[in-house]
Amino acid sequence: MRIGRFQVEIFSDGIFRLDGGAMFGVVPKVLWEKQKPADELNRVPMDMCCLLVRDAGHVVLVETGAGPKLSDRQKRNFGIDEPPRLLGELARRGVRPDEVTLVVNTHLHFDHCGGNTYRDGDRVVATFPRASYAFQRLEWLDATAPNERTRASYLADDFAPLEASGKVELVDDAVEILPGIRLDRIQGHTRGTQTVRVSDGRETLFFSSDFMPDRHHLPLPWIPSQDLYPLDTLAAKKVILPRAIEERWVVAFTHDLPRFGRISEQEGKYRFDEIAE
Ligand SMILES: [Zn+2]
Repeated sequence: MRIGRFQVEIFSDGIFRLDGGAMFGVVPKVLWEKQKPADELNRVPMDMCCLLVRDAGHVVLVETGAGPKLSDRQKRNFGIDEPPRLLGELARRGVRPDEVTLVVNTHLHFDHCGGNTYRDGDRVVATFPRASYAFQRLEWLDATAPNERTRASYLADDFAPLEASGKVELVDDAVEILPGIRLDRIQGHTRGTQTVRVSDGRETLFFSSDFMPDRHHLPLPWIPSQDLYPLDTLAAKKVILPRAIEERWVVAFTHDLPRFGRISEQEGKYRFDEIAE
């Protein structure tokens, strides 16, 4: 679809599966399973969505999915049973890896940045050789020095090799990384999670990051227990949701079906309606 002069597309790198109880935090299963049925292991399937934004001379990729480097054990643990779709989806849209000029990761959990790199013999190299890779400085600090709670989500091969080749662009808080493309740090899921806004001044596209992974997380208390700062997620939702409605933002989520929609509110209940393209 078009957001002013920008051509934007969303697609899925594939499905992974996480524990449903963890995804919905304090919300009891009797409520969340009506929205999102769990499998026999209590896991819920989720797409790993990537956003492609094209503007004169710029090819921007937001998120790179789980990537090709996971071990069989990791794939089993995360319920990934298909190869990554990222490069095929880009090719279908006429984009070669060396044409991508900027990669943005909303944060550095493996399901958002695994496709940043691939294994070439015994080296790990950038998938997008001409691109800069942008993420928040705080996210970089936390990903490169994980603690016991965060370690399983950060896989160093997804981001550390990029630094050695000078491809990392660290940003702080709120920046306009390219004309009309804004990154905003929202502490909640992690300290350094960032959302993405694409705007030509009249129309705005908002890409949620895991701050709100899918439409089921629109109700204020529906906050994943993976969030390191859940009360900050709550506070940010109270600011961002009314703004998204007021300014009629086009919204896309990281872990919903790959699609665009708008948010509305009726009697205190938020809902998401897909935009028919
Ligand atoms: Zn995620």
